Amino acid sequence: MDSLTPEKRSWNMSRIPSKNTKPEELVRKFLFSKGFRYRKNDKRLPGKPDIVLPKYKTVIFVNGCFWHNHKDCQGSRLPKTNTDFWGRKLEVNVVRDQNNYQLLEQKGWKVIIFWECYLKNKNTTERRLGELINAIKK
Ligand SMILES: [Zn+2]
Repeated sequence: MDSLTPEKRSWNMSRIPSKNTKPEELVRKFLFSKGFRYRKNDKRLPGKPDIVLPKYKTVIFVNGCFWHNHKDCQGSRLPKTNTDFWGRKLEVNVVRDQNNYQLLEQKGWKVIIFWECYLKNKNTTERRLGELINAIKK
């Protein structure tokens, strides 16, 4: 499906700004460069998804690993102090997230979670963004 040569691909990747760019902005820019058109933070939908692709009936949440408690991810480790407090706080977030995803799916939306840590290094990023496109089109 992806017919870009490696040279062209790395050129595209290098155009993706990495510094001082919020993860959701980076994912949006990437999708835009691939021809996807989206709405941002649609308040009418549960959880205000970061990216809404009406054509694919798909929403994407670009989630911070800590706040959304990315399972088995280093980025979601609880602080050593006030561990109980953070544990409870994050559990509330997770329950709310799950609830939102469920509501969206009930409305017929496909829900894709894109984790912040996917953007940590260029090799991972490229693969994960490729997978994201496959997931959207599936
Ligand atoms: Zn993570």
